Amino acid sequence: AADKERANNVAKIKVAVRKRPLNKKEIAKKEEDIITIDSNSLTVHERKLKVDLTEYVEKHEFFFDAVLDEDVSNGEVYAETVEPIVPLIFQRTKATCFAYGQTGSGKTYTMQPLPLKASQDILRLMHYTYQNQGFQLYISFFEIYGGKLFDLLNDRKKLLMREDGRQQVCIVGLQEYRVFEVETIKQFIEKGNATRSTGTTGANEESSRSHAILQLVIKRSADGSESKPARVIGKLSFIDLAGSERGADTTDNDKQTRIEGAEINKSLLALKECIRALDNDQGHIPFRGSKLTEVLRDSFVGNSRTVMISCISPSSGSCEHTLNTLRYADRVK
Ligand code: ADP
Ligand code: MG
Repeated sequence: AADKERANNVAKIKVAVRKRPLNKKEIAKKEEDIITIDSNSLTVHERKLKVDLTEYVEKHEFFFDAVLDEDVSNGEVYAETVEPIVPLIFQRTKATCFAYGQTGSGKTYTMQPLPLKASQDILRLMHYTYQNQGFQLYISFFEIYGGKLFDLLNDRKKLLMREDGRQQVCIVGLQEYRVFEVETIKQFIEKGNATRSTGTTGANEESSRSHAILQLVIKRSADGSESKPARVIGKLSFIDLAGSERGADTTDNDKQTRIEGAEINKSLLALKECIRALDNDQGHIPFRGSKLTEVLRDSFVGNSRTVMISCISPSSGSCEHTLNTLRYADRVK
């Protein structure tokens, strides 16, 4: 009963914003920090010009469930976002944590430590709280690039998605590895990140066009024994989304870039619609809008939790992208 009560206390949808510090490049270009934070509110100080070319500042204020300033550590980000959800996945909850924002805003920096910290807590719960109850932990890691799925723990093998009769999503051929210790998780995360699309133009450039999806799955057999087949109990998905500005690449000269841009745009819009539908407890959730939302279908139905961490640059040079990111997060909230 205490567990149930705690479960009900964790919000179904939580939206957090994380501001990173100005970087060397921005400082060298004399760009300024235009973001101020006051507990749960955040203000963008947009500099604009009047017709007579005098400058004025337009303020845009936003409120979120959590606003994380530049001095907030990755450990504190974990405590604010994912930590409260971890115990719920032993009670048939499927939870998803997204990092959203423009390329270079800190999505990967924010996302990378989270599954490691979560698996630490999961293994601890398995060994102590749920000792001898036969829970098993599995990891998988794949990416969606140009609407196609690739296994990041199996040499970028191409994967296909299908749905079974009970509307469960199945990714055919996806490698799932059982894990017993945190060190193994760490190695899988490093391997997967190294396998992400890097193309010829450099890692951040290409990985910004893909969604990376790391899943931690808890399973258990009917009687908790090792000899019977284990079924999924709960799931925790970590999604490092494609750079939000990539969705605007729909007029690029390069055809491939245009196709990828259109796919990213579609998936980020579909994601927003799905989360909004969840929030309103609408019966119908528009998964079919994109590959990303189709893949996440089973995490949106039933007992689900969603955390969105929107990452922003503090710099005046990123003002427009930052406003776009905050408006997106505001619509999800
Ligand atoms: P994205 O994945 O959104 O493209 P990254 O996570 O790669 O962005 O971050 C871009 C750069 O900024 C990296 O060098 C990263 O180490 C740095 N960075 C991002 N967020 C922070 C932060 N909160 N504190 C310090 N450095 C950060
Ligand atoms: Mg990244």
